[in-house]
Amino acid sequence: MNIFKLTRMKKNFTTRSLHVPFPKDDAYNALDMPIYETVAYDFGSSEDIAANFRGELPAHVYSRTSNPTVEYFEMKMKALTGAHQVLAVPSGMAAISASFLAIGKSGDNIISGKHLFAHSHALLDESLRNYGLETRFVDTTDAEAVEQLIDENTRAIYFETVTNPQLEIANVEKLASIAKKHKVLLIADSTVTPPIVCQGKELGIDIEVMSTTKHISGGATSFGGVILDHGTYDWNLNPNLSPLTAKFGKDTFIARLRKNYYRNMGSAMTAHTAHIQSIGLDLLELRFERSYSNCMQLGNFLAKHEKVKQVTYPGMPDASDYELAKKQFAGKPGTILTFDLESEKACFEFMNRLQLIRRATNLNDNKSLIIHPWSTIYVDFPEEERLSMKIRPTMMRLSVGIEGAEDLMEDIDQAFKG
Ligand SMILES: *Cc1c(COP(=O)(O)O)cnc(C)c1O
Repeated sequence: MNIFKLTRMKKNFTTRSLHVPFPKDDAYNALDMPIYETVAYDFGSSEDIAANFRGELPAHVYSRTSNPTVEYFEMKMKALTGAHQVLAVPSGMAAISASFLAIGKSGDNIISGKHLFAHSHALLDESLRNYGLETRFVDTTDAEAVEQLIDENTRAIYFETVTNPQLEIANVEKLASIAKKHKVLLIADSTVTPPIVCQGKELGIDIEVMSTTKHISGGATSFGGVILDHGTYDWNLNPNLSPLTAKFGKDTFIARLRKNYYRNMGSAMTAHTAHIQSIGLDLLELRFERSYSNCMQLGNFLAKHEKVKQVTYPGMPDASDYELAKKQFAGKPGTILTFDLESEKACFEFMNRLQLIRRATNLNDNKSLIIHPWSTIYVDFPEEERLSMKIRPTMMRLSVGIEGAEDLMEDIDQAFKG
């Protein structure tokens, strides 16, 4: 049996990831996909290279447009998510910015969740607004409010599956039905909920963007991003893309991205990065399950601690978003939690006493990382705006790693005792 078919029949994520076949047989029967660090590719005849440029002979030509090792990483993501098409890019922000640039132009608008990763917020509110692409920020947990903002120039509704760092969860089914009703694209940043726990297509998401720097890279090994097109949106409905559908059909969005973004703007993932990201993907399930188990244990431990005022992790059964976390993300809504102490000063002192948990700004490293968002990631926003984004001076964000849970609890305990 064809190995591709065989791996699709296997249910386990790790089994499937490990056995995705190469795009082509390897000349040396390498067991691991080689790193094709080449810029250009040789063609047997002038007729062949001309046919390739006409789009009639698919082949790699120049690694700014596509590369075999990157293609393999894209194939793995495709096999594991069931996406129709996948494009790998150099960072999560590249995945997000490219998607917006591909669907909108000056005069168009995007409706976005107001609780967003800070740089995504800045991209929409500053960078893209400068080019005339408007963003209307709204509370995406309020589906009616989202619907009211849609007009004939709305190109997409955008939200984060679990917002970072508020850890709020929108009802995806409701957002998807509004998007469908108004024929608008639904784009989700699913970085926090990797494909083990989030089946974007089944939830009704058309396009998923992800920072693979986080869960997928294998412990902060490299920057990366992916764009998944689930093949559910009719690109004739978008006036910027409809002229391309006669040629590209269901592949219109990714074809446009590959030409206008990869090729013209020069933003390709490198072969070396794709190689380490592929290995990271093979180990994703093992790492995620361990982090999730640690996250639950730490959440319960912190909730009982007398110095802790509040713990937020939607995977805990008494959390307000627990039902949605169960329905949409198998009850495992990522491996980040937040907790509050009585003051900003208490947070700083606590963090300074930590010995194992590192003070750093990243998520889903193998190491546990802590940060005080108010004084760091959000410091450029005025205080009232920070408060309206539900960022509190008393809150810390803990990205839970894969250390032993008992070692993490011991570190937290000694930092509280001071
Ligand atoms: C980190 C992050 C990004 C940006 O990803 P990079 O790979 O750092 O560019 C986007 N969205 C979310 C939710 C993130 O956590």
